[in-house]
Amino acid sequence: MSKFKDKELVLSLADSIKQKAKKFDRLRIMHVCGTHENSISRYALRDLLPDNIKLLAGPGCPVCVTSSKDIDAIINYGIKNDCTILTFGDMLRVKGSNYSLFSASKLGLGVKMVYGLDEAIYYAKQTKKDAIFFSVGFETTAAPIASIIKSINLPENLSFFSVHKYTPNGVLELLKAGKLNIDALILPGHASIVSGLAPYEKAASDFNLSCVAAGFEPADILSAILMIINQFENNICKVENEYERLLSYEGNKLAQNALNEVFDITDSIWRGLGIIKNSGFEFKTTYNHLNAKLKFNIPFSDSYIEEQKGCRCAEVVLGSIEPPQCPMYDKICNPHNPVGPCMVSDEGTCRNWWEVKGET
Ligand code: SF4
Repeated sequence: MSKFKDKELVLSLADSIKQKAKKFDRLRIMHVCGTHENSISRYALRDLLPDNIKLLAGPGCPVCVTSSKDIDAIINYGIKNDCTILTFGDMLRVKGSNYSLFSASKLGLGVKMVYGLDEAIYYAKQTKKDAIFFSVGFETTAAPIASIIKSINLPENLSFFSVHKYTPNGVLELLKAGKLNIDALILPGHASIVSGLAPYEKAASDFNLSCVAAGFEPADILSAILMIINQFENNICKVENEYERLLSYEGNKLAQNALNEVFDITDSIWRGLGIIKNSGFEFKTTYNHLNAKLKFNIPFSDSYIEEQKGCRCAEVVLGSIEPPQCPMYDKICNPHNPVGPCMVSDEGTCRNWWEVKGET
């Protein structure tokens, strides 16, 4: 068993947090990673924290922040044209304005679930149809995709509809817009392995936030909370790294170079949050031939609905409410019948809360 799961270590960290937290009125700590939410929920880490430490889930689930506008556009194009849309399993079940990719398959949309780009390439080689990879994920996913794209010859019938997002700029812009009511950030372990920690310096300096990158085991997350509390005790706000065993301050230069070579950072729509400046990855003009939006001139509608009626995912991903505060949670909405995207993926906050507390 990993020492980071060791019960005594975990309980002793929780006890230190409880002791030190007595000095503070309230501390709102947000993480921005679906895998963090999965660990926090699975190991019931919130139950180990004192009441004045609030651990909030931020916009860290990639399918949850994928806009209805993008889902609608690929569905509308795919239904009218002889092509196959390839994407990850979670993405298939997230609704656009009316349909998910999966439900649209019953209307004639050609859809295939893939586990990664390698499988999409394999599929494209087996068919003469156009194959469009609906490419979703943060820098963690965008970097290996960029690396494959620049390294091999892809089948001519394969193209990409990029809805990739760049976490640091997304978080910074939400902070600038005053949409995150928080005192500290737990930085995403996986995504920061690619980006490094420098892009978060502004969050610490301009918004007086303690920022600590953390791994995914229970002791990692509690250690990061303790490091944040230590910063508060000493009245400092800086970027620190709890996940030194895998994450360097500089990040992965090879991955960053691949991203810079293939993608531009562009404005991007985050579901329920609107257009966020410089928060997405779009293909550079040298890769226009791979960009399905341009190659097929895919139209985007202005009349789209970002949230299903009554769904409060936008507030969930901003940490403004907890899932049970949504009236549909566990009544109408559950993983078997997800109303909003946060109930679909095992990185979604509503799904994680339901799996642990809501199943009845
Ligand atoms: Fe949306 Fe369902 Fe979560 Fe409510 S419980 S916010 S409907 S995903």
